[in-house]
Amino acid sequence: MKVFKFGGASVKNAEAVKNVGKVIQLFNDDLVVVISAMDKTTNALEKVVESYMKKDGECFKWLDEVKNFHYKIIDELFNDKTHQIYEDIHNAFVEIEWELEEEPLRSYDYVYDQIVSVGEIVSTKIVSAYLNLTGLPAQWIDVRNVIQTDNTHRDAKVDWELTEKLAKKEFELNASSSVKTVFLTQGFIGSSSENFTTTLGREGSDFSAGILAYCLNAESVTIWKDVPGMLNADPKLFSETKMLSNISYHEAVELAYYGATVIHPKTIKPLQNKNIPLYVKSFLNPQQEGTVIDNNTTHDSSIPSFIVKRNQVLISIESKDYSFIIENNLSQIFGIFSKMGVKINLMQNSAISFSVVVDFDVQKTPLLIQELTKDYKVRYNENLSLITVRHYTKEAIDSVVQNQKILLEQKSRKMIRMVV
Ligand code: ASP
Ligand code: MG
Repeated sequence: MKVFKFGGASVKNAEAVKNVGKVIQLFNDDLVVVISAMDKTTNALEKVVESYMKKDGECFKWLDEVKNFHYKIIDELFNDKTHQIYEDIHNAFVEIEWELEEEPLRSYDYVYDQIVSVGEIVSTKIVSAYLNLTGLPAQWIDVRNVIQTDNTHRDAKVDWELTEKLAKKEFELNASSSVKTVFLTQGFIGSSSENFTTTLGREGSDFSAGILAYCLNAESVTIWKDVPGMLNADPKLFSETKMLSNISYHEAVELAYYGATVIHPKTIKPLQNKNIPLYVKSFLNPQQEGTVIDNNTTHDSSIPSFIVKRNQVLISIESKDYSFIIENNLSQIFGIFSKMGVKINLMQNSAISFSVVVDFDVQKTPLLIQELTKDYKVRYNENLSLITVRHYTKEAIDSVVQNQKILLEQKSRKMIRMVV
C-alpha cells in the first residue's frame, strides 16, 4: 500500500480536482489518499472563527464565502444537481452554523478545531464523490475514527498505539480482491478521547500522511505538490533554485524544521522510524522524478540550501538583578515559553541576557512579552527574517545577506543562521 498526500493547491478548483483523479489513475497500487482543505479554505475558516470569537457579527458572512467557493466547484464537477454530494456538503456546513449560533463560551482553540476541520471534511467528500463518478471507486474514511490524539486543540499529540490499532482495522484491504483499493481521507484532523475534533497544527496534512504510512507499514509516501520536488530555496524568494533529487531524512527534517515549507517537519520521524521513503513530486508532471527522501546521506551536502522564515520577533530577556541567566533563570524562562506554547526558532545567551527568536503571533506574542516582563527586562524587535543557509559557502552567504543588517548570527560546521 502506498500513501499519497494532496495539499490545498492540488484541489484548488474543479480543474485541479479532475487532475487529482488523473494522477491516481496512473497507479495500480492500493492507495491511501490524504487530502487537505481546498485552496485557502483553512485561512478563510480561521476568519470565521476569529469573527465568531470577537462577536463582530461578520462570521456568517465569512462562512458564506467558504460555502459559495465549494458550491461553485461542485457545480462544475457534477452535472446532476440532485447528486448526494449537495446534501453531504450542506450537512457539513450546518455543523458550523450550529456552532456559530451558540454563544462563544468554549476556548478559542477548541472552537477553532471544530470549525476549521470542516474544510477537510468537505474537500474529501467532494473529491471522493467525484472519483466515484468517474468510475474510480474510492472509499471515504473519516480519519477521526483513526487518528486519536490528546485534547491539546490546534496542536494535538498523537496516541500512536491506539492510532495504529484503529488504522489497521479501518484501512483493511480485501486480500482476495485483485482490483486496487483507494481509500480517501482527511489530513490535519484527528479526534480526542472525548470524541471532539482536534487538529495537528497548520499544514499538518503531511504529518497525517506520515502517521498513516507508519501505522500501515506503507511501501512509500508521495507528497504531490505544484513544484517539481524539494528545491534548495523558495522560488518565490530566489530567482535561481536547484532541485534536491535525493536527500536524507536528517537533511529533510533540518530543512523543514527551519522553515522550508515544502514538507511539514513532523512528517519525517514516523517515516524514518520505519525506513519508508518519501517522494515529493509534481501533480502537474506526475511522471517526473521529483525528490526522494530516504536514509541515503551521500548527496546531502552537495548544494547549499536557503531557508527564509519571515515575520520573526527577536526577544532579549535580561535579568533585572544582574544574576546569571543560565544558572538561575533558564528553567523559569523555558517554563514560560512552554506554558504559552511558543516554540523557539533560535536562542543565544550572554552572562545576564538570553535572546530568542520566535514566530510572531497576534495572540501569543504580546501575552508572552507581558509574562516575561514580570520578572525580566525585556526588549524586542518585530518584522525580522531568520535566514538559514545549510552547507554554506561564502558566496552563498553574501548572495542572501546583501545589504541587510544582521542582528544575530550563529554558525556551525553545516549551517549558518542569521536574524536580519
Ligand atoms: N488545511 C490545513 C492547512 O492549510 C492542513 C494542510 O493543508 O496541511 O493548514
Ligand atoms: Mg495547505
